[in-house]
Amino acid sequence: MANTRFALVAACLAAGSLIGSACVIEVDEATDGNDNEYIDGVSNAPGDSPPPGDQKPGGTTPGPAGNDKPKQPDSSIAPGGACSCDTECQAVEGRAGICVYGVCMTRASASCSGAGSTAECGAGSRCWSMEGEEGSICWPDCGSYDCQGSCDGDNSCVPNDKTNCDYSCGSYCSCQVGDCASGESCVSGKCMPDVMSGDNPGPGPGPTCNNLPDRDCTGTAAYCGELVGFNPRVTPHYDDYAINGETSANQYRSYLRRDLKMLIDYATAKTLCKSAGWNTGNGGALGLGDMSEANGAIPGTAVNQPGHPKSTHTNGFDIDLAYYQKNTANNYLRPICQHADYHCTNEPHLLDVWRTSMFLGSIFESNRVRVVGVDGQAGKVVTAAINELCTLGWLDSFACSHVKMAFEVTNMGYGWFQFHHHHAHISLCPGNTPCNNAMDAGMPKMSSSFDAMPMKRNPQLFKGLAP
Ligand SMILES: [Zn+2]
Repeated sequence: MANTRFALVAACLAAGSLIGSACVIEVDEATDGNDNEYIDGVSNAPGDSPPPGDQKPGGTTPGPAGNDKPKQPDSSIAPGGACSCDTECQAVEGRAGICVYGVCMTRASASCSGAGSTAECGAGSRCWSMEGEEGSICWPDCGSYDCQGSCDGDNSCVPNDKTNCDYSCGSYCSCQVGDCASGESCVSGKCMPDVMSGDNPGPGPGPTCNNLPDRDCTGTAAYCGELVGFNPRVTPHYDDYAINGETSANQYRSYLRRDLKMLIDYATAKTLCKSAGWNTGNGGALGLGDMSEANGAIPGTAVNQPGHPKSTHTNGFDIDLAYYQKNTANNYLRPICQHADYHCTNEPHLLDVWRTSMFLGSIFESNRVRVVGVDGQAGKVVTAAINELCTLGWLDSFACSHVKMAFEVTNMGYGWFQFHHHHAHISLCPGNTPCNNAMDAGMPKMSSSFDAMPMKRNPQLFKGLAP
């Protein structure tokens, strides 16, 4: 990333500012001064990403598959066949065989250049990544190989919710109790550090919460799309404090559509009510970050420093929010992890994963949500924890079947990899009508300035729930 970092700094210098919100280089990240998402123009050349699959999914789990339990490779099973371990799966044209939730596939030779691209795969397979997982995978075509899994709409052979493999020797498998290293627990198929998973809130649904604000806007398109501000600015459940150069007298970056404002008001209030008995974090109000300016412009436009990529944070469709935290004084926007190059490099030790997941899970009750983007390290644990809260009965069933999380553990060019170590981003669908775009069509981009690289669904996440 050296070249792109240089390009960003050079662009800042050219713009004559290293301190403004558009080009700030980590000046005071401990408070609220660094909400910069502006990475428009940063290239995402394939070579920028680490080699796909050089890390075991889950990151913190024991080293590369098979290291601690060497087995005699027989590598006899063709792509599409049933497997328990990577070593059983045939390599194809130099691509290593891997076991993907019980189905043999091969590792792509580079990050997928597009959805279903062929350049990175041997004949008879095509390239996609997988929801909640790292790396690029060559998925066998059902027309080319015998398929022991299921054939999906792309005519790829995919695992299903009944197939799985051995976590200790397969690259992409769900853990079972006992599979995880000491200091970790298996939560929803992922080994998560105990610091993230040891304080599960127990069986739901918890308090009834009868007096929540209205979730959905039922007025005219003009009414629901009108740009408004939070009033009051501070409640027990949210805190729209002055941020990124705002003053309390001029919160010029804090305008959003009425339907989005209502949803945030509802989901923060619901989280406060539901989590009343949880000791998983500081329990304070959720800090709100950038939205749009009053005329719909990107925040910062008024001071010639638009702080977000083109076509995000316009017309009140987007909002940045803090993560709920633990071991901090409040839930203001701040990094929740050790980080470098604007992304978490370790598990987010300051994240209140359960409140954050309760909140984001409640956001998915709305049929207007396009996507929620978070840091890659946060995304792994939040996705697992939302799944857990669904299983435990805390979250609504519609929400559990419409989870639209986006995150990048490695930089795949969707726009989520950087700048989300201190906040989450919620984006509504365009227009005024319901949209139920689940992730089947691939991870949504942050904005049209990023190239999408769609991924396939992970059948082991949210299993047993309605599609
Ligand atoms: Zn944002």
